[in-house]
Amino acid sequence: MTYDVAIVGGSYAGMAAGLQLAQTRRKVVVVDAGQPRNRFASHSRGFLTQDGKPPREIAAAGYAELAQYSTVEWRKGHVETITGQKDDFTLLLASQQGGE
Ligand SMILES: Cc1cc2nc3c(=O)[nH]c(=O)nc-3n(C[C@H](O)[C@H](O)[C@H](O)COP(=O)(O)OP(=O)(O)OC[C@H]3O[C@@H](n4cnc5c(N)ncnc54)[C@H](O)[C@@H]3O)c2cc1C
Repeated sequence: MTYDVAIVGGSYAGMAAGLQLAQTRRKVVVVDAGQPRNRFASHSRGFLTQDGKPPREIAAAGYAELAQYSTVEWRKGHVETITGQKDDFTLLLASQQGGE
């Protein structure tokens, strides 16, 4: 598959980037290995409007916003290598023999 943008990592930063790109009608793939660094924390602290919420809930709300856009595809997996050059990159996932 070919996309305008591939985002490696679908936690808060990746989803925020994906949302901006979706709103500008880009075809986007988000590849996420599902290991956010705050996965061991039980609640957020000092995050305006999200204080006291478990990280998983915040991430789920972000995912739901992205899922509203048909131009955004979500792939679970780990990007092993990225090859190519400007405007023509290929991502190889750990689960794949070939790139995509
Ligand atoms: C214990 C702890 C508690 C925290 N508490 C707070 C708090 O209360 N309030 C606050 O504002 N901040 C808090 N933070 C900071 C906050 O969690 C981080 O700033 C935030 O998680 C960073 O988000 P991120 O999207 O940049 O990265 P991450 O959340 O780390 O996500 C990176 C994502 O990319 C994926 N990924 C990485 N490499 C690849 C690859 N090659 N292929 C595919 N996927 C990949 C990972 O699996 C992961 O899902 C806390 C952090 C920690 C560690």
